[in-house]
Amino acid sequence: MDNIKVFDGHNDTLLNLHLPDRGEGRSFSQRSDLGHIDLPRAREGGFGGGFFACFTPNPEDEGWNEEEALTVTDDGYEVSGAPQIDPQYARSFADELVAGLFRLQSESGLRVVRTVDELERSFREGVLAAILHFEGAENLGPDPGALEELYEVGLRSLGLVWSRPNTYAHGVPFKFPSSPDTGPGLTDAGKELVRECNRLGILVDLSHLNEKGFWDVAELTKAPLVATHSNAHALCPASRNLTDRQLAAIRDSGGMVGVNFAVAFLREDGGESEDTPLETVVRHVDYLVERVGIDGVGFGSDFDGAKVPRELGDVSGLPRLLAALRDSGYDDTALQKLAHANWVRVLRSTWCG
Ligand SMILES: [Zn+2]
Repeated sequence: MDNIKVFDGHNDTLLNLHLPDRGEGRSFSQRSDLGHIDLPRAREGGFGGGFFACFTPNPEDEGWNEEEALTVTDDGYEVSGAPQIDPQYARSFADELVAGLFRLQSESGLRVVRTVDELERSFREGVLAAILHFEGAENLGPDPGALEELYEVGLRSLGLVWSRPNTYAHGVPFKFPSSPDTGPGLTDAGKELVRECNRLGILVDLSHLNEKGFWDVAELTKAPLVATHSNAHALCPASRNLTDRQLAAIRDSGGMVGVNFAVAFLREDGGESEDTPLETVVRHVDYLVERVGIDGVGFGSDFDGAKVPRELGDVSGLPRLLAALRDSGYDDTALQKLAHANWVRVLRSTWCG
């Protein structure tokens, strides 16, 4: 029986709880069959916490939605480019999600952590630890100077983009098969934002960023390179996954990759079938460990934001994944690294306190 704590690089639980058409008003503190994470299922799965993303979807009344933008092609799919959204709108939406996270803290006993010490104390005390993460820097609002104010609130991780453009950078449109090299690199504002993140000690997340943007950050940043929820392009050639060259740069920087459980980024056919064996996750872990090293791989589930293998089900299925990894040869020390220790190491070298 595995009682190894899992700390995870990405979930969309805040959005799932916020939008009635996703979470149907479920409560985080009560067990539900909806979504992937709630407190009872987290306890059952040995989930110690993770990055809780604040993501602002394109407004429905502006005429773009992911389902309608999806085209099936001969060998995969393409989602035509999501348009940029208004930063004022993004900020007010993100503020509601941030408020939702702090509500979970006061009502469900989860803890928003700002330092590695707080994170480790939460593990010891068995309190679910949450890192406040923004998925897309438009969430800062019209003034990038808001970063500092949001740092005070608790923001400790920032994805420059979701899969759409903004003032700072260009996200990869979802496409299979496709290289992640889909457009221009960071803008000057984007480069300045990376410097500010370095200065404050905010992690810069590279998932969803296109390849030119990735190389711009790699050249500029003083912190280890981190992709919180992406997989190996060699095993699943989706635009969202990382090429061998990118993986080598992450390794050389002492950074890490969180393995994404979304079937579309795991399967070699890029498909959405939940009948995807856990073995497929293990193969990505194996490949990433081979490329980045055992100190550079963790989990980045995408729970509550994507379809995951039926065999995993939800957060309560994590022990089955750990068992599958154990069966394929990972010993206790390796499992501890994959499950949480690598995240702790990278956060320690990225955050200022
Ligand atoms: Zn994402």
